[in-house]
Amino acid sequence: MNKIDKVRYSYLPQQFEDIDDLLQEIKEFVKTGDFTLGTPLVEFEKKFASMMGSKYAIGVNSGTDGIKLGLKALGVGYGDEVITAANTFIATVGAINEIGAIPVFVDCDDTFCMNVDLVEKAITKKTKAIVPVHFTGYMTDMEKLIPLGKKYNLPIVEDACQGILASQNDKNSGTWGICGAFSLHPLKNLNVWSDGGVIITDDEEFCKKLKLLRNHGMKNRDEISLLGYNSRLDTLQAVVGNWLIPQTHDIANKRIENANYYDENLGTLKQITIPPRPEGMKLVYHLYIVFAERRDELLKYCLDKGIEAKIHYPIPLYLQEGLKFLGYKKGDFPVTERHTKDIITFPVDQHLSKEEMDYVIQIVNEFYDK
Ligand SMILES: *Cc1c(COP(=O)(O)O)cnc(C)c1O
Repeated sequence: MNKIDKVRYSYLPQQFEDIDDLLQEIKEFVKTGDFTLGTPLVEFEKKFASMMGSKYAIGVNSGTDGIKLGLKALGVGYGDEVITAANTFIATVGAINEIGAIPVFVDCDDTFCMNVDLVEKAITKKTKAIVPVHFTGYMTDMEKLIPLGKKYNLPIVEDACQGILASQNDKNSGTWGICGAFSLHPLKNLNVWSDGGVIITDDEEFCKKLKLLRNHGMKNRDEISLLGYNSRLDTLQAVVGNWLIPQTHDIANKRIENANYYDENLGTLKQITIPPRPEGMKLVYHLYIVFAERRDELLKYCLDKGIEAKIHYPIPLYLQEGLKFLGYKKGDFPVTERHTKDIITFPVDQHLSKEEMDYVIQIVNEFYDK
């Protein structure tokens, strides 16, 4: 057997190695010309809703648009405040900004999700919605957040883009709030071949509104009910989605298995701290992150040894040039800020071999032994 001397981050070439049957399906599909809101999309939406345990699923352009359309359907707009997590990916904030609303951050805790205890303090008269982010495949504590939303009459749009099949007490991400948004981006756990997203909801009226919003507000060919967007999930990508969706549980389970293996083996090092793994939370490890002493040196050592470790993220959003207008400053979100200095992400995907994980573990050990 070849000795391992590198561990790649992207598994896409491996994932799509054996696709003859899918290409055949695409060939048949192209012949139908059913490209826009076509039959395979309707089929994908049914399957997705059923997998999540929700009544409806609506295919959209991207996860970003999923969040945006969710907020738009609630009537959130210009000058309204939307509370979200300070450590999220830019897309969450972009979605809030696109409808003219103002993102208001709350700090996360060591589960990489918003610290729900800090939400109440962030609520003002202008607050119109809360967007918890199930970051890295952890779950925000929804058992705590839902009653808070009810108390202040604030609807919740879940950013579940990284959390497909994550759950709290067996209730899936995306099914807690009025709606949940998922991303089908190539780097996400359920990934098609371009941008794509899905919104799920149990509310029939809300579903109808989302379907209008994603398709220019067109009730039919001749009548416009409201002003909307061009944000349909490509039916071609729904063909890919239909091919992939039966693998979603296996993908999650393999990532969980890999993460457990890392936890057991990296957790014995005193310089590495494994984040909390709370009772009742099913984490799906879109990212596998641990806290590391001398993080920058460890990252460099791993990269030198061929391991594509990463940092999610080295600069928090609220300190980014492009978000200066929000008026935040260094020190505003201490946990998020500490994370930028002590987190490290290792590959954890379903195509990773035990030998590759052993190599990661060996290199991390080697680094701290020196
Ligand atoms: C990927 C991602 C999004 C956006 O999804 P796209 O499909 O890329 O638009 C939103 N929020 C988070 C936390 C994400 O990771």
